[in-house]
Amino acid sequence: MPPETPTKAPAPPVSLIDLDRSKLADLVTHCGEKPYRAKQLYRHLYVNLADDVDQMTDLSRAFREKLSDMSRIGSLHVKKVMKGDRGLTRKALFRMDDGSPVETVLMVYADRATVCVSSQSGCPMACVFCATGKLGHLHDLTAGQIVEQVLWAARTLKTIAADHAEKGEKLPDRLTNIVFMGMGEPFNNYRNWWEAVERLHDPEGFNMGARNFTVSTVGLVPGIRKLADEKLQVNLAISLHTPDDEQRTEMMPVNRSFPIADLIAAVKDYIAKTNRRVSFEYVLLQGKNDNPDQAERLARLLKPDGVPLLCHVNLIPWNPVPGTPLGRSERARVLAFQNVLQQAGIPCTVRVERGVDIGAACGQLAGDGEKAET
Ligand code: SAH
Repeated sequence: MPPETPTKAPAPPVSLIDLDRSKLADLVTHCGEKPYRAKQLYRHLYVNLADDVDQMTDLSRAFREKLSDMSRIGSLHVKKVMKGDRGLTRKALFRMDDGSPVETVLMVYADRATVCVSSQSGCPMACVFCATGKLGHLHDLTAGQIVEQVLWAARTLKTIAADHAEKGEKLPDRLTNIVFMGMGEPFNNYRNWWEAVERLHDPEGFNMGARNFTVSTVGLVPGIRKLADEKLQVNLAISLHTPDDEQRTEMMPVNRSFPIADLIAAVKDYIAKTNRRVSFEYVLLQGKNDNPDQAERLARLLKPDGVPLLCHVNLIPWNPVPGTPLGRSERARVLAFQNVLQQAGIPCTVRVERGVDIGAACGQLAGDGEKAET
């Protein structure tokens, strides 16, 4: 029998959201259209939030047909949308072409609407308390795949706001905040992540203000230093989780490469350069890192020269991750921890969680616990 020749699956069509403005312009001229059509197309994608070329009725039918033949609007496939908190929290489970999961969470409040976006499918950082870490690193998302999640949230928000308006309840119909706190480590996919920020910021497109973005990192020092030099000033959050190096290495293997002293030095330099307030996230695990003496050590760490850094501590009672032998700190311990920090002059709040019932809260994003499935 002749050896079987492997048949290669045809490459999937290009995703329009993966093209920057100049590549979009090239595509438009390649289709034989006038260059100004590129601007129309760009506005359809980022201002009108079109998810189908047939919604772009000011483009000729022939052009729309060409676009549908050669491209698609995004490359993430929505598989499931879950509702929590009376419908005001929505978690989307997307799959990439190879089946890898990507999750996005939209949280709607009376006065604001936040989307929590993934920067990778899975995550290489392997923090022991985090569900995403258990998946390992499946993919870096492209800039377009990061942007696409925001566009999904913006469209979903419009329908939620319209439904509530019918009942006489006013909710925001535009996203006010984009936080990179979903699956993955943004600074481990810095280039694509930053391209997504710039795209979403573009005043002629999606037009999200720089101050309305927040990026959260495990503490990759080179990323913190790079961010300090960017022209757009987004908010920075650092997952610190303990003031003790040994414990941090146990909880977060990244601490071997970037121990606490290096991390705090980078944050100090970041604040000196940008004059921006940094947030420290602190997941509270019962009996592990929630003792009052650790709160004291944390306070000292955040006052390196005897005065508090320009910072804020965000306490996050741990959200359960199946199969993980850890416990969520009791409320009294959370409040005692907060009190020590406040007494020491460090601003400190407890994060109000959304979506715990649908596995959408911090650290719970694991694509329903499944790996790739095609
Ligand atoms: N990789 C980035 C982005 C993830 S943000 C980072 O680590 O900062 C998600 C935040 O939720 C991080 O602070 C993370 O440490 C925290 N987290 C992870 N697992 C959690 C859990 N089970 N409960 C509460 N917070 C968790």
